[in-house]
Amino acid sequence: MLGRVNDQLREIGVQDQSANIRLWFELMSHWARRREVQTGDNDILTLERPRRRTVARRTPKQRLRLTAGILIGLYLANVAANVLYKVATQWQIDLLDVRIESLARLDPDDPEIARIRQVIDAAGYASLTEAAPQAIARRSTVKTYLKRHPHLSLGIAVDGDGYRSDRVIGMLRNINWRLRPHRLSVGLAEPAISIRIPAEATREDILRGITTAFRHRPDHVIAMTAKTCRYTAANPGLGEQTGNRLYSFGRMGLTVVDGAVIGEELTRHLQTEIASFLRQDNSERRWQAADYAVRAEDILTDHRIIGRLWRDTFGETVAQDDRRSVQVSVGLDGVSEAEARAAIDSVNAVFRSEGIRFVIQHLAPHRLTDQWKWPVEMEKMLRRGESDIFVLLTASDWASPDRGPVRGLANATVGAVMIQMGTPGETAQRLAHELGHLFGLPHTLLSGHVMYPYENAIGLAWSPGSQKLLAKNRTNMRWFSSITSPVRFDMAVRMAPVMRRSAAAGGAATSEAFARGDVWIRCSAQ
Ligand SMILES: [Zn+2]
Repeated sequence: MLGRVNDQLREIGVQDQSANIRLWFELMSHWARRREVQTGDNDILTLERPRRRTVARRTPKQRLRLTAGILIGLYLANVAANVLYKVATQWQIDLLDVRIESLARLDPDDPEIARIRQVIDAAGYASLTEAAPQAIARRSTVKTYLKRHPHLSLGIAVDGDGYRSDRVIGMLRNINWRLRPHRLSVGLAEPAISIRIPAEATREDILRGITTAFRHRPDHVIAMTAKTCRYTAANPGLGEQTGNRLYSFGRMGLTVVDGAVIGEELTRHLQTEIASFLRQDNSERRWQAADYAVRAEDILTDHRIIGRLWRDTFGETVAQDDRRSVQVSVGLDGVSEAEARAAIDSVNAVFRSEGIRFVIQHLAPHRLTDQWKWPVEMEKMLRRGESDIFVLLTASDWASPDRGPVRGLANATVGAVMIQMGTPGETAQRLAHELGHLFGLPHTLLSGHVMYPYENAIGLAWSPGSQKLLAKNRTNMRWFSSITSPVRFDMAVRMAPVMRRSAAAGGAATSEAFARGDVWIRCSAQ
């Protein structure tokens, strides 16, 4: 092989290169063994270096291109890191923005607002090209602030016109000043709302009626009424507190104050309530003498309150699904077909905005006996064919042995409603209310709305809570329109109250009958 190489070299005019070529082979084998070359004759080595090593040999132009590529890569990686981090932490900034609104509803000149703005400004990006570690360090100020300064966005519901809102706001400002040394603050999640607590309601009505009255659920709701409220089941001997009685429903995030008089005493009690809520005391109780003696300062000093990041006060949206069409079987007890069609038309007008439509599938006379129960009547109506729900329209007065006169009735499990016909306006209100229950709506305590439980203040507008729930339940609500299953039948029997034809027309009637086991609350003016 050596001779052939020599011959080739000779052909191109290189004379006797044997010594050089021999050296070259020696060096190559040496290099292969040791991976390094020690020699004085670099020219040969340079000429014949393995292909791999040539990568290191770049022209200045290539080197420039490579450097530029690396720099652009680093720049893009830094921008990407900044964008990702910004997206991941933006909710903390949003939280502070919501907090500013919350504080400003109590006091637009609150010095804390300026401080929060400083924190937000300090955390803002100079630009996305800023070194990522520096940007991360900047944003940590927000995290630290949120951790050290817990904030509670309150929802305030006041019963009746007895309260001047400036007095309620004044009390909350006062609470805010007292909480400030503990780095805590309160604000208003949305402007205070006015509710109307009925003279008689179930416990469920009061609780859900207040908490679903808000558009967005606040961190904690405080409801105040000047009326005196009593559970029917409560022991009357407990009431040593004569005014400002507090009821804590920790899990629901609700405090109800009855016999409420705004003043120093109520301010102190609510401060204590807020402090115990922040320390995660979620017990449900009517305050006892010992509770009224507790000082908020003691709770706040003894328990380290760790900053809470409340997120459900904003950004909560309900998906807008398709419209829902519900097939209805209508039974007529002393009601004409024309009246029934007009009644269904009138509720369709109320439900249209919520994307729900009722379509009459069957419409037939249905003579009720003087005493009846849901399952029996439904079974009779079922023989006329399957529908999604049953609507029984009656011209008579009805009464439940448990609850007295009844204008309407709903059973959301089996999908059945009954109403007593009134004027066209009353009929629309009653039917819309009962059909609302079929979509899982609880009562609201916002008067003038469909789900208000008493006819004296019912209306045809949907409350924010009802709208939210309708949007959620519109397409997924299902009813057991078949009563062939013994389990369903049994459940329907237990849930449906007995109805008796009543001779006494008119009189104060509840909207519907309630189950025997319900806890009732009676509220009366003092
Ligand atoms: Zn109702």
